[in-house]
Amino acid sequence: MQLLFERSKPGRRLSLIAECDVPAVDFGDATRAQAPRLPQISEVDLGRHYTELAKQTHGVNDGFYPLGSCTMKYNPRINEELSQLPGFTGIHPLQPAESAQGCLEVIARTGEMLAEITGMDEMTLQPAAGAHGEFTGLQLIRAYHLDRGDAKRTKIIVPDSAHGTNPASAVMVGFDVVAVPSNAQGGVDLEALKAAVGEDTAGLMLTNPNTLGLFDPNILEITRIIHEAGGLCYYDGANLNAVMGHARPGDMGFDCVHVNLHKTFSTPHGGGGPGSGPVGCKDFLAKFLPGPLVKKGEEGYEFFTPEASMGRVRSFYGNFLVVVRALAYILTLGKEGIPEASANAVLNANYLLHRLCDEFSIPYGDSCMHEFVIDVEPLKHETGASAMDVAKRMLDFGVHPPTMYFPLIVHEALMVEPTETESPETLDAFVEILRSIYDEAQTDGELLHQAPFTRFIGRPDEVTAARKPLLRYQFDGE
Ligand SMILES: *Cc1c(COP(=O)(O)O)cnc(C)c1O
Repeated sequence: MQLLFERSKPGRRLSLIAECDVPAVDFGDATRAQAPRLPQISEVDLGRHYTELAKQTHGVNDGFYPLGSCTMKYNPRINEELSQLPGFTGIHPLQPAESAQGCLEVIARTGEMLAEITGMDEMTLQPAAGAHGEFTGLQLIRAYHLDRGDAKRTKIIVPDSAHGTNPASAVMVGFDVVAVPSNAQGGVDLEALKAAVGEDTAGLMLTNPNTLGLFDPNILEITRIIHEAGGLCYYDGANLNAVMGHARPGDMGFDCVHVNLHKTFSTPHGGGGPGSGPVGCKDFLAKFLPGPLVKKGEEGYEFFTPEASMGRVRSFYGNFLVVVRALAYILTLGKEGIPEASANAVLNANYLLHRLCDEFSIPYGDSCMHEFVIDVEPLKHETGASAMDVAKRMLDFGVHPPTMYFPLIVHEALMVEPTETESPETLDAFVEILRSIYDEAQTDGELLHQAPFTRFIGRPDEVTAARKPLLRYQFDGE
């Protein structure tokens, strides 16, 4: 595919712009010496170029997208439309509170509902993503210990199945990370946890269900061990899609939590667009939350900043339009719909697990929550086809591959999360695709090493692409 600069022909341009009727101004020395090297292209060619680019991507409207941990479900269009209402898009963040009461109500009510869903007392909607929420929650834990004059608590305990952002956030906040191993069932090893806690334990970070898609049956014991050692418990709520309306982190013994609105609550995810990672906490931590928060006063909704606030973690009030979508989603689903959505997510994942477990090895669990992990190691051993080969071949069938090589404790991992929005027909079609790839591995291993065959780019060097991206067009002779 040609780049815009390669399609450029001198003198081509968009033809419909009227002649400029504003007198030219001479900026003297401030004028650039050379005209910018912009591509010169006609409108129709420009349109085709971007349409061609759009066709190279895969979104949830193109096909199945079982990218584990990311919850790539279909988000109702109506919530997009609601978030685009002029009353929401036309406000200014510095507007006086009394002139933006509706928007403040959106913030306050969303916070209340998320607090109810997670079992927390207070909520900030400021953090812009999950990892940012982790950073904020860990600052709460740090502030709590320092406020009590307990400066020796420098360690955060993280299970070895954790998402990479957990240890990264702990390090950013200045903690040391202590990894605890998983037990044979894929949960936290209680003996290892008991051995890891001590007077230096600031807290624990945990997602439950974890990245293997397993709900830890020892969760009350885990949070008790941490509390007894004087630490606090942080819940990574990225997997809330599996339990919302059924189980609450607050009831599991967690003190603070983040929620990924762009996974569970109706904001499209994966295009790099804005997300939101609200953080909730129990009452005793609320005084450290970032401000401003919104509360209902005598004169209506107003801003306030908690007494020992850690300060802002983001400008203004967070990604407000993401919050609007979340409120619309929660209100439309309601108390019956929220648990039904997570029940269907769990049902779909178990349906897939059971239809795939004859061909493929699923090392942890006979059942799962909203996602499960296939181990391609036995297939690789037998036929040479790796998780990468299987994933690349799926692209030829119009399916976005599952998350690969994560969690790290399964070496040839494919982490499948179908979500509640997929039909049985889509799930059955996915099973047939995986089975036919399994058969291909037995009969024609080389084919799988070469896949995909239908994509513009097949197997890029991902490390170089991430580390040394070419972000500018390279003109001849440069
Ligand atoms: C996605 C995810 C995160 C991080 O969330 P971002 O919004 O991507 O920063 C943390 N933990 C788990 C388990 C996740 O799936």
